[in-house]
This record gives sequence, C-alpha cells and structure tokens, in this order.
Amino acid sequence: MKPIISIITPVYNEQACLPTFFKRVIPIMEDLGLPFEIIAVNDGSKDDSEKILIEECKKDSRVKAVNFSRNFGQQAAFLCGLKNCSGDCAILIDADLQDPPELFKEMIEKWKEGYDVVHGVRRVRKGESFFKKFTSSLFINLLSKKSGLDIPKNSGEFKLYDRKVIDAICSLPERSRYLRVQVAWAGFRQTAVEFDREERTEGETKFTLKKMLKTAEAGIVPYSPKTLKTSGKIGIIGLILSLLAFATFIVLTCLSNVIGFTLPLTAWLFPTIALATSIILISNGITDLYLSYLYEDVKARPVYIERDKINFGE
Ligand code: UDP
Ligand code: MG
Repeated sequence: MKPIISIITPVYNEQACLPTFFKRVIPIMEDLGLPFEIIAVNDGSKDDSEKILIEECKKDSRVKAVNFSRNFGQQAAFLCGLKNCSGDCAILIDADLQDPPELFKEMIEKWKEGYDVVHGVRRVRKGESFFKKFTSSLFINLLSKKSGLDIPKNSGEFKLYDRKVIDAICSLPERSRYLRVQVAWAGFRQTAVEFDREERTEGETKFTLKKMLKTAEAGIVPYSPKTLKTSGKIGIIGLILSLLAFATFIVLTCLSNVIGFTLPLTAWLFPTIALATSIILISNGITDLYLSYLYEDVKARPVYIERDKINFGE
C-alpha cells in the first residue's frame, strides 16, 4: 500500500538509539491508522547501525534503509530521505528521539488543516549546555539576518513537509543544501507546534564543535550573498569620511591666519590614504555586486514556485 506518511531519520553511529527508535515510532504510527514508511538513512556509520537497520528491514517491510558510502552529514541524509520517500507528507526526526514522536499526531492534524510545513518548535531544551544553546541561537539569528528570510527560532530539522514542499526542495538544482533556509525560501503555508526537547538518553551528540562550525559555515555562506556588499558599503563610508576630512582641512587652511594655526603637510596624508583605500574598496564592491548576481544565476533556482492553480483544468 502506498504510504501516506514517510518518517525520515538520519543515522550516524546510533546503534544505542535505533532499537528504542523503532520500538517507540512504529506503535505511534500504527495507532494513527495511516499507511506509513520509515526511511533510515545510514550516513556512513562505523558501529552496528547498519546491522540493526538490516534486521529491522527484514522484520518489517515498512522500514526502508539507505546506506551512504561514507559520512556525508545530516543535511545530505535528510535530502536523501526526501528524494526516496513516497508519502504525501514526510516528517523529519533525529534517531536519538530528543524530539518526541508523540508530536506526530499534532503535526499531521495541522497538515490535514491545510498547512504545508509544520515546524517543531522547542519550548525547552533539556540537557543542552549553555554554549550549545547560545551558539545555535546566534547561528539562527545570523542566518535569518544574512539570508533575509524568516527562519523560525528554537527549531531544528524536526518538521513535517507536504509533498508539494518535498518536490519543490528536491527540484532545487543548487548543490549547497541547508534545508531550513531552503524551506524558508520556498514559502508555502507554514505553522508550528511546540514541544519540550528531551535530553539524549543513549549515545552522545555527533555534532562536535568542528562539525557545528562546518555546519554553520555551510548554512550561512551560500545563503548570504548580501555579505558580498560589505566591502562596497565600507568603501562608501570611507569615501564620505575622507571627503569630510578634506573639506575640514581646506577650511582650516583657509582660516589659518584667523585661527593662528597651520595644518602640517603630513596631516593631509590621512584623508589621502583613506580616500585611496575607499576607492579600492568601492571598486571591489562593484565587482562583488556583479558576483552576487552571477551567484544567484549559478544557483539556478526557479524564479517562483506555484502553490496551486485555479480553473486551469486537470
Ligand atoms: N547525524 C548524521 N550525520 C552526521 C551527524 C549526525 O546523520 O554526520 C544524525 C544523528 O545520527 C542524529 C541526527 O543527525 O540522528 C542529529 O544528531 P545529534 O543528535 O548528534 O545532534 P544534536 O541533537 O546534538 O544537535
Ligand atoms: Mg540529538
């Protein structure tokens, strides 16, 4: 039977969590009474995750697994799940169950009400250090500001996507992928449900500081072409300040007899250097401006996405 709901989970060295994952998720999905599939994407695990997934797939044909050739990261694993799922909607959830599968019901209700994206928004985040909470909130704020998109705060990848959104995201031709930003860019009807995020009970976080920084870089850089305009902006400020300095110096020189003070010749060096530097920054800025348009074209995103059409026939 064709699944209506696809549950997608990325798996990286999660041998400790996987048995609990299936034990908890399968009964919840069965209670909902809708045909479902669970797609586990094994992101190059080095532990027994693959063995456990093979066992689960043998026991239950609704459980499906994809094994990556090596570790490609959580974002690649989620994308692979979305590309391989056949449900009318998909729910993304981490394998450690820090996000509660009990929330599926509420998410699906919102979807049935007509929402295309349902964000799981964390009220509290148990067991996470102040550093992790601070850096992830800094990351989201920076991402929203730099991308100019409305990215929900306190939410991770725990979300439900309608088929329209899945198809839109999968059809984006760009290579650098960051789901949260792509979904914010794609639009559609979006809503949120709140929950308390649990502590990881088994295994440990796979996001080391190095991985967190790499993910933050991969999230911010490709989605913030506005940053390319920084050099031009600094150049314009420098130009204004150096012209103001020149004007002040000229007035002071003209009034030297009145004020009884002559500017030393070396003083003119400062606005001259500032003027020369700002001209260089502005010319860099012009190149960057062209680069930012080129960058958008290289991404080759569609100019618009149609949510639905009325009176166009079938
Ligand atoms: N994960 C992955 N590839 C990676 C790192 C993590 O597939 O390179 C998976 C991991 O198995 C888990 C999810 O991504 O299902 C979230 O990872 P984790 O719980 O370590 O992140 P945290 O909750 O600490 O941010
Ligand atoms: Mg986790």
